[in-house]
Amino acid sequence: MRILFVPTWKCNLQCSYCSLRTTTGADGSYQLSDRMLEGMRKDKPVDYWLSLFEKLPASQLELTGGDPTMYEGLVGLIAGLPSGWTWSITSNTLRVEVVQQLDLSKCLNWTASYHYHSGSLFNAGLLSIKKRGLHPSVTLVVTPEKITSAYLKARELSGDGYRVNIHRALLPGFSWKDEQYTDLWNGFKRMLQGLTVNIIDNIPMDYTGNRYSRCKAGRDYMALGPEGNEYRCFAHLLAGQPMSVTGTPDTCKVDCVCSYDIDNNKPER
Ligand code: SF4
Ligand code: SF4
Repeated sequence: MRILFVPTWKCNLQCSYCSLRTTTGADGSYQLSDRMLEGMRKDKPVDYWLSLFEKLPASQLELTGGDPTMYEGLVGLIAGLPSGWTWSITSNTLRVEVVQQLDLSKCLNWTASYHYHSGSLFNAGLLSIKKRGLHPSVTLVVTPEKITSAYLKARELSGDGYRVNIHRALLPGFSWKDEQYTDLWNGFKRMLQGLTVNIIDNIPMDYTGNRYSRCKAGRDYMALGPEGNEYRCFAHLLAGQPMSVTGTPDTCKVDCVCSYDIDNNKPER
């Protein structure tokens, strides 16, 4: 089983486009939803998770967040994973002091999500992983305003030998289908020709209209929230809809807009 695991909602960055940010303060400042704030006070301890994992079949944990490196006890959690378990992670990779302590022997993939305000610690984090024999890949999310910055960073990182995955941002109220943005995206892809980068083009063009009725979520893929609840997928976790104890519902009523879910489930309409 693949388990998308959010050990904490805490994050050391405050990105304006973060899907955890559901409200904006009167002064335009970053604000987490009440549910996320409440959730931050309820992170489960390492012992809770390890005893749950012992009862499950050997699985692959996909850690995300928030930023998983903000979870107190991550080093012990990874060191204590049961036999046969593996993990991968998506992290902004800025907490270099935590990254350096993690046992990477069961880590299948480190995805470093680059943010345009990450600063120089990002490259330091990447290097600290690479030096230990694991080759991280980098995800760059492109917005219309960041086309040039995205190109320059993609060129730098691919030149340094990192695998770079690039996809367009999914933003509420915004559509890449608008002609000017379609042209922008296609022009951006042409700019990338000649660079060794992976353009992920199966992300929907806009935030709505991608509701599916069937997928494998809740069967061979599920999500775990910091408060210990089980969810059918990341979209259900964000929506605060845990799996029912009577089993997985047949029809999904949540918009399927999370790249984690799309990558894991390839839902059918
Ligand atoms: S690094 Fe990711 S989780 Fe953290 S604020 Fe930015 S988008 Fe949100
Ligand atoms: S939101 Fe997507 S991944 Fe989740 S249950 Fe619905 S179709 Fe499946």
